[in-house]
Amino acid sequence: RGSENVTDCLFCKIVSGEVPSNKVLETDDVLAFHDIRPQAPVHVLVIPKKHIPSAHHIEASDAAALLHIHEAAQKVAEELGIAENGYRLVTNIGFHGQQTVAHLHYHVLGGRQLQWPPG
Ligand code: 5GP
Ligand code: ZN
Repeated sequence: RGSENVTDCLFCKIVSGEVPSNKVLETDDVLAFHDIRPQAPVHVLVIPKKHIPSAHHIEASDAAALLHIHEAAQKVAEELGIAENGYRLVTNIGFHGQQTVAHLHYHVLGGRQLQWPPG
């Protein structure tokens, strides 16, 4: 599943350390790092270390990693001081969703009033 893309995947390279990143937290199966082009005062990406192409490809066996992603997002929001005022956790899927990196990632956005709908 998506394994043909793993060697070329930017976020797999961030997981392996081949591409550097500004890490916020790391566990056995999850990594959180600052987005290189922040769209808000806090903009962190939370990813599974395992290559999953998008949320459209999640399977039952990914359940634990998904919980850990949510736990990591909570921790990021607490540690970076955006939890109290609220924040956004969002994942883009495919072309119309404007997903640009084909490795599942959740944006943690906060630190300002966000708009809805995103457009
Ligand atoms: P998407 O558009 O797929 O939902 O989100 C991809 C995100 O990855 C974008 O917000 C983009 O700024 C970020 N990004 C792209 N390349 C890099 C990189 O090399 N390092 C980091 N930290 N973020 C990246
Ligand atoms: Zn990947």
